[in-house]
Amino acid sequence: MVYLEHFSDHPLDYINEFYTAEKVRIDSCPHCHSCRRLHLHGIYHRHVIWYEDVFAIPVQRHYCIHCGKTVSILPSFCHPGFQLALPFLLELLWAFLNRIPSACALAHQHRHFITRRFLFCLNRLIEYFRICHDPLIVFPDFGHKKAIKLLEMVYSVGKPHIFGKRYHDHFKIGFMAL
Ligand SMILES: [Zn+2]
Repeated sequence: MVYLEHFSDHPLDYINEFYTAEKVRIDSCPHCHSCRRLHLHGIYHRHVIWYEDVFAIPVQRHYCIHCGKTVSILPSFCHPGFQLALPFLLELLWAFLNRIPSACALAHQHRHFITRRFLFCLNRLIEYFRICHDPLIVFPDFGHKKAIKLLEMVYSVGKPHIFGKRYHDHFKIGFMAL
């Protein structure tokens, strides 16, 4: 299982602060609901594609002594299961949905996949905004316009990672998860 937490906005700052900052602790197990604080249980590295750069960021793993399961805490500029950092991922989506050409080779490689996935996840996004923002909000019928409106709403929340974490805290999965 993954939790998202706000750390630094940029992977380099996150990496620099990772070993010196006080660790976020998890006081109850989300798997078995034990109230015994989870043990710090090693670190793994994952890749984050941040525009033209790729970073290997350390991720802290936490372990429950009662059920033996683990929880990892990802910085909120990540989307679980995706290497693209959230600001870059949303920018690619925005460019593709608005037919803004991109010279970036990486963008071409990823944009079809992430756009298809985003379109697949629209209904859960609508549910999120109806529950957390306005139950009466109206969305266009047409998928493409609906997607643009939802992306505008995602941006209206503020920095991408703020939306990413709120959504994840609510549904316990990322907004692009299947
Ligand atoms: Zn447990």
